[in-house]
Amino acid sequence: VKVVVVGSGGREHAIAWKLLDSPRVTQVYCLPGNGGTACLERCENVAIEATDLTGIGEFAKENNADLVVVGPEVPLAAGLGDRLQALKIPVFGPSQAGAQIEASKAWAKALMEAAGIPTAKAAVFDNYGAASRYVQAKGAPIVIKADGLAAGKGVTVAATEAAAIAALERIFGGEFGVAGQQVVVESVLEGQEVSVLAVTDGKTILPLLPAQDHKRIGEGDTGPNTGGMGVYAPVPWVTPELMQRIQRTILEPALGALQDRGIHYCGVLYAGLMVTPAGDPYVVEFNCRFGDPETQVVLPLLETPLIDVILACVEGRLASLGALQWRNEVALCVVMAAGGYPGSYRKGDVIQGIPEAIAQGVLVFHAGTRWQEGQWYTNGGRVLNITALAPDFATAQAKAYGAVNAIAFADCYYRRDIGYRILESSAH
Ligand code: ATP
Repeated sequence: VKVVVVGSGGREHAIAWKLLDSPRVTQVYCLPGNGGTACLERCENVAIEATDLTGIGEFAKENNADLVVVGPEVPLAAGLGDRLQALKIPVFGPSQAGAQIEASKAWAKALMEAAGIPTAKAAVFDNYGAASRYVQAKGAPIVIKADGLAAGKGVTVAATEAAAIAALERIFGGEFGVAGQQVVVESVLEGQEVSVLAVTDGKTILPLLPAQDHKRIGEGDTGPNTGGMGVYAPVPWVTPELMQRIQRTILEPALGALQDRGIHYCGVLYAGLMVTPAGDPYVVEFNCRFGDPETQVVLPLLETPLIDVILACVEGRLASLGALQWRNEVALCVVMAAGGYPGSYRKGDVIQGIPEAIAQGVLVFHAGTRWQEGQWYTNGGRVLNITALAPDFATAQAKAYGAVNAIAFADCYYRRDIGYRILESSAH
């Protein structure tokens, strides 16, 4: 099987690596890939950007790709899935219509309301006047969201009415362009967040292990939001009963609602959930693709070959695949970033110590790196993802940080507390 993987992050390195775990996969092409995928065996980087829909289609056709796996949401929202379908190339990732579940928060809210999926109460506005009057009537705290894709920056959880109004001014003032033509205003959900990624062939939906991300830049979950600074899986307090409830009240109804809209959805449906102190799961958001960095802990724990799962999805026979098999271990991932991220940061610094880190028994997934003449260089905000597997979280955490300490690049930043929530709770 020849596979094209679209994207260049840690998620795509993990997907390519896991696909190549199976001898069935003879060749992977990463478009455009990164310094990690450049060095995988049976894997080649091709200088075609993830947003170059025409280039991706032509490359897949010319190289007789059997399958395209799309990492990021932007090309899916732009219609990459439809374009590949039209070329008769099997694609793991939804059509543009299906990708609206992530690309329009207003659309996703309407779908959830129609399907009776638990989520925060919301109202949608297309002008500042009506939105600000609604905020004044409701009061703070309140959540303001730009409707479209804003790379995680379009959401303000406002503690005060003034902060909510300021967020509305920014969005309707054009800070997010067309992504801010509509605004979703919703009530605040309290609790703990958990990501449940599920794979679907459009008929059957199978959840992967739950994972918990650390979105804030600072230790103790402080400071601005990022793409994710660390993650672990599974999440011990997400019981089998809670997973069943998520399946029954969230994943299956969401798939049903997509079907009701005539959408054949094949790919990952990712539910970002808030579990309230009473134990009830609510949807914060849906994403239409694998999570980053969740993928970097979930896939290493998966024992079933990823290619088997993905082919079962694109061939519409997920129901007969049987239960997914998982390693009896936990995984914890620390993201190493360039200083300054999520603001401005430098690129082009030499990275040292990766072989030494790998020698300690961890997985090193590259994100913003570049391979050139026998050296790795920094090439993005989130640079490396260090994943450790172990029988328990304390061991996984120690192992991950041991390997982090072996790696060096100028101005490196990482959180030193990844996993603190579970390690604190298990210490009591
Ligand atoms: P990302 O790209 O980071 O996934 P996004 O822009 O798609 O984010 P959301 O996931 O909807 O936006 O929101 C970002 C974060 O804001 C959530 O992870 C959560 O911490 C917080 N948040 C969003 N909605 C609510 C809510 N109703 N109540 C409490 N917190 C919320």
